[in-house]
Amino acid sequence: MRVTQWLCPLCGPSPLDHFSEDAKAPCLRPCLPPDDAANMLRDCKEDTTHVFGAITATRLLGCARKVAIEDTLPVALDPARYMAAHDGTEKHKALASQPQTSYLLGELHGVQRELTVRGELWGLTVQATIDRLGAQGIIEYKTTKGWAKSNEAKVWPEQQVQVSIQSELARQQLGHALRVRLWYKFWSTGQWAYADVEPLSLDEVAAFKPHGGDYTVREIGEQLSAFYHDYESTKAANQTGVPPEPFIRRLPLAGRKMKFGKKSACEMCLVQRECDRLEGVVTL
Ligand code: SF4
Ligand SMILES: [Zn+2]
Repeated sequence: MRVTQWLCPLCGPSPLDHFSEDAKAPCLRPCLPPDDAANMLRDCKEDTTHVFGAITATRLLGCARKVAIEDTLPVALDPARYMAAHDGTEKHKALASQPQTSYLLGELHGVQRELTVRGELWGLTVQATIDRLGAQGIIEYKTTKGWAKSNEAKVWPEQQVQVSIQSELARQQLGHALRVRLWYKFWSTGQWAYADVEPLSLDEVAAFKPHGGDYTVREIGEQLSAFYHDYESTKAANQTGVPPEPFIRRLPLAGRKMKFGKKSACEMCLVQRECDRLEGVVTL
C-alpha cells in the first residue's frame, strides 16, 4: 500500500511527518507517538506480501475493491483503522525472528515460521503465509478480546476458511495433509487458548460468503483476478499511462454488506476515503 498522507482524526489529510516531533508543523493533538507512526509507515512500505497481483488467503475473505485500491492508488492512512493490523504485523515480525529450531521444546526437526505457500485454487494462483510449521503441523496465532474461560477457543467461520486455504496450499506444496491448530491470545488477560481445526473441503471454501456479504470466496478471487488481468493487459497495450480508476469502479462495493459485529467492512476500511471519492462522495 502506497501511503502518501496521514488521515489525522483532528487535522484531516496531513503530510507524512505530521506525527513527528521534528515536523515544521506537527499535529497539536497527536493520536499516536512518533515511533509508532514511523513504524506504521515502515510496515506499509516494507509489505511485500500484499502487493499488486497477489491473491492471498486473507484477501479472499474481504472486499476485492479494497485490495484493488490498496494496490494501485495513493492512500491517506487513518492510524485508528490501521492500529490492529499494525499490531498483528509487529507480532508476526517478532515470531519470524525466532530461531528456526526450538531445542528447548525438543523440536529438533526444525520449525519454519512465516512460511509462504503457493498453489492453485479454482484455476487461480493463491498464496498464504503460515505462522508456524513444524512436524506436528500448522500453528496460526490469533488475538482476541476479553478473557479465556477455558483453554478451548471458539473459531470464527472466516478463520476456519482461512486456515482451510492455508492447509490446502501447504498440502499442494508439501505433498501431505497437516494438522491445524489455532492459538488465541486474549488481549485483556494475556491468557492463551487453542482450537484444533478440521479443514473444510475446497467446495465448502469456494461457496463461503465472508462476513455475511454477497460474494463467495471463489467469486472474490475471480473479481481480483479479472481486475489484475484487465488493468495489466490494458496498460501493456497502451503507450501512455492508464489510470486504474475505471477498472476499480467495475468492482462491486462489496464491503457495504460485510459485517464485523455491528460495523460494516466499509466503516473499518483503510481506503474508504479513496473508495468514496471514486463514487463521487467527497469527504474532508
Ligand atoms: S469502503 Fe467498503 S466497498 Fe469501498 S473498498 Fe472499502 S470495504 Fe470495499
Ligand atoms: Zn493532526
